[in-house]
Amino acid sequence: RHFTDYPLSEEIVRALNSLGYETPTKVQTEVIPVALVKKDLVVKSQTGSGKTAAYGIPLCELVDWNENKPQALILTPTRELALQVKEDITNIGRFKRIKVTSLYGKHPFHIQKAELKQRTHIVVGTPGRVLDHIERGTLSLERMAYLVIDEADEMLNMGFIEQVQSIIQALPSDRVTMLFSATFPDDVDQLSRKYMDHPVNIEI
Ligand code: AMP
Repeated sequence: RHFTDYPLSEEIVRALNSLGYETPTKVQTEVIPVALVKKDLVVKSQTGSGKTAAYGIPLCELVDWNENKPQALILTPTRELALQVKEDITNIGRFKRIKVTSLYGKHPFHIQKAELKQRTHIVVGTPGRVLDHIERGTLSLERMAYLVIDEADEMLNMGFIEQVQSIIQALPSDRVTMLFSATFPDDVDQLSRKYMDHPVNIEI
């Protein structure tokens, strides 16, 4: 398999080449074609499997550069993961000039607010601070077409269930949702059952 097997634009394939990604990893071969046709996805996979690019590649492909409001929201359990995801997706979207903004706690709110006033295609952040921005009206959800819940088990372990549910309920109901988790305890299962529409299940 090769990345050119998928309907990806030249800018995305060029970015993957420049990152040295020659062939898709297992999770990427399973996720990319399903995500590109905008189906909900529940994916069981570990970190190190290439899962960030598995959702990052289709998101970069699907977002409309000309849209002024953010179109994709990625929730991560930690600030470290949010920053890593921002870097990875910025690299994938480089030649399409995709702008990614990260939102996390213990960082000045007003700086993030100013960044959100610029055109941002993809937002990645931790649940508490993302919800803060939603409640204060600094993060527009109007055009959010894609939601990724990354490391869902970790996120719920850290006690973020209520914030995650509040965020999901504030999003447009016709969005696409992708959930990634290494394990599937009851609370993660319930989250996917409650908020996802006949998801395709992938286990790596
Ligand atoms: P992740 O599971 O998202 O944390 O990714 C693990 C590592 O694999 C990261 O350093 C990525 O840059 C790298 N990676 C992701 N996809 C590919 C690929 N198709 N080919 C080579 N390396 C990759």
